[in-house]
Amino acid sequence: MSYEIVVVGSGIGGLTVAALLSARGMNTCLLERQSQVGGCIGRVEFAGYDFEPGMGLYTSFGPGGVYEKLFSKLPVAAPEVSLLTSPHVTRLTDGTDVQSSQHDLYSIHGGPASLAERLAESIKHSGGSVRLNSPVLRLAYDESGRAVGIDLLSGERVFATKAIISNLTVWDTYGKLVGLNRTPSEIKKRLNTLHGTGVYVVYASIEESAVSRLPSERMLVKDSDGEFSLAVAVHQVAPEGKRAVTMTTRTDVEPWFSYQSSEEEYEGWDQDALEPFWKRLHAALPELGGDIEIIETANPRTYYDLTRRKLGMVLGVETAEPSLGFGTTLPNLFMVGDTVAATAEIHAVVESAVSLAERII
Ligand SMILES: Cc1cc2nc3c(=O)[nH]c(=O)nc-3n(C[C@H](O)[C@H](O)[C@H](O)COP(=O)(O)OP(=O)(O)OC[C@H]3O[C@@H](n4cnc5c(N)ncnc54)[C@H](O)[C@@H]3O)c2cc1C
Repeated sequence: MSYEIVVVGSGIGGLTVAALLSARGMNTCLLERQSQVGGCIGRVEFAGYDFEPGMGLYTSFGPGGVYEKLFSKLPVAAPEVSLLTSPHVTRLTDGTDVQSSQHDLYSIHGGPASLAERLAESIKHSGGSVRLNSPVLRLAYDESGRAVGIDLLSGERVFATKAIISNLTVWDTYGKLVGLNRTPSEIKKRLNTLHGTGVYVVYASIEESAVSRLPSERMLVKDSDGEFSLAVAVHQVAPEGKRAVTMTTRTDVEPWFSYQSSEEEYEGWDQDALEPFWKRLHAALPELGGDIEIIETANPRTYYDLTRRKLGMVLGVETAEPSLGFGTTLPNLFMVGDTVAATAEIHAVVESAVSLAERII
């Protein structure tokens, strides 16, 4: 098959750029290895709950924000959003609560996955293709060394006559798509200096009555071990009288990828992360009492399985240096996503995807 534009990965970055280019009439194909779109903001459903995939901090949906600009160019409407009525609260180590000055936080009806699904709908509506369950192996080159498209793991070659856009991380764009033998040594050196973070996530069920005892549905909790966030899902599915809650804390990635002799050992690592987290949670938020129950957990290995991001690193890159930007060492290969955006927040990824689409158009 041949297209003008081939996009690898259906995270928020890949979806946004594919939606904009197909809306401008460019023959676009988006390839995703998973059976659903969204990557880090894809649906997280367990036991009758639809969980908030992240920290639930979504901005820029108001007038003049990036989503207004984006959806004004697309043939579909933006997902419904509501301004959050309760402020973002930080509970400090001494137990006091401080309200954040950030007032423009929104909940997305159906969660951020509905934003991803709306963009996929837009691509199809404009005549583009969204191919799920289609893992990309590497770039395809002609004899002169020019990238002509991509090779899928299935053996199929998909040609791109104008551009290939990678929604993989900077490490995976070079390590997997371009190939390390074709990556210049100065880029390899630069990639070695960049590092991301890992997260340990607990998805839990919480009684409605316990939510009303919390100072807010969006919290950052600081304690002697660091900090963690808590986000109660708003406008999402849960059994009657219950709410879905997502709690996130940072973790080192490397230990999760060390040699494991059995599945029991891996489960032991998860238990070793969960138990101290659970104690921290109850010590910092005693008002929860026994009204919260663990449903599932996620760690860097889970994120690797979900997104194939190097070592399951999420939340962009931790560096003071300027980002690598969306250009690459190949003239027709571009990058989009949180490792090349200004910050690892979905509105920043969308902003960089809008700029990339404008440049390509
Ligand atoms: C726990 C957590 C909490 C967060 N909380 C917030 C928040 O509150 N507010 C906020 O704004 N942001 C938040 N973020 C950040 C935000 O969710 C991410 O930065 C953003 O979703 C990343 O998007 P991306 O475009 O970089 O792509 P990704 O989400 O990384 O998606 C990449 C896609 O590429 C696919 N892919 C990978 N390899 C291949 C291949 N070989 N072939 C085909 N497809 C492939 C993957 O399956 C995936 O779908 C949070 C992130 C995490 C992890």
